[in-house]
Amino acid sequence: MNTPYYKPSGKEIQVFEHAYKNKLPFLLKGPTGTGKSRFIEFMAHQLDKKLMTIACHEETSSTDLIGRYIIKGAETVWMDGPLTKAVKEGAIIYLDEIAEARPDVIVAVHSLTDHRRELFIDKLGITVKAHPNFMLVASFNPGYQRGFKELKPSTRQRFVAISFAYPEPKIEAEILVNETNIDKDVAKKLVNIATKIRNLTELGLTETVSTRLLVDAAKLIHSGLPKRLSVHVAVVEPLTDDLEILTALKDLCDLMI
Ligand code: ADP
Repeated sequence: MNTPYYKPSGKEIQVFEHAYKNKLPFLLKGPTGTGKSRFIEFMAHQLDKKLMTIACHEETSSTDLIGRYIIKGAETVWMDGPLTKAVKEGAIIYLDEIAEARPDVIVAVHSLTDHRRELFIDKLGITVKAHPNFMLVASFNPGYQRGFKELKPSTRQRFVAISFAYPEPKIEAEILVNETNIDKDVAKKLVNIATKIRNLTELGLTETVSTRLLVDAAKLIHSGLPKRLSVHVAVVEPLTDDLEILTALKDLCDLMI
């Protein structure tokens, strides 16, 4: 597999390498679409480690991660879940949006995040010592607005943490060009639009324009969809359903591209 493309914004690569060397769990904080998943894919590739990603949601339970008995013909057999597999094989497990998961997930990973580095499988009544190469990585969206799930301080303090934010304009334009082969000038215009909308805090958007949305717009433009329409559907529409704000944002973008 080719190295995934990742453009660093700071010292995150160095920090991750040292966290890995010291077997410290790692927490990526930041809004959606800021390159957290891409960063982990890149790091796993750099370190030549297998990566298992779990997109956590409100139904994700410790059973989903640890494993369960399943019925096979006349027998019931135990199936390791992805966390147990990663612990045994020495893979990197990435629990994306860990705060969304059920509270028993946090309880289950506790003993993996301290000096014990072990997983208790309650259904089997056994404890599994983590392979020396095992690493736990989680992401969390702190949410600048209310309504997002919080991560308890006692949990957060078990991780080395790094913040992800929207990249500097120059870096973000470079990402767009690299990801989509779009023209440099158009990339700059897209980044200007994003910067403008990100600064419109008075709109009270729950989440603002992410790099992911810009990449989507750039892809549509590169494949031949008119620029303004691409920005409307890839950048503006996903942000809000409020008709007045939609119209205002579309007008603003039309002036900028
Ligand atoms: P997150 O996990 O934070 O929600 P992703 O890693 O899925 O975000 O990023 C969304 C998209 O944005 C990626 O697929 C990639 O195209 C682009 N992207 C964002 N940041 C970077 C970066 N620093 N380097 C390369 N691509 C990036």
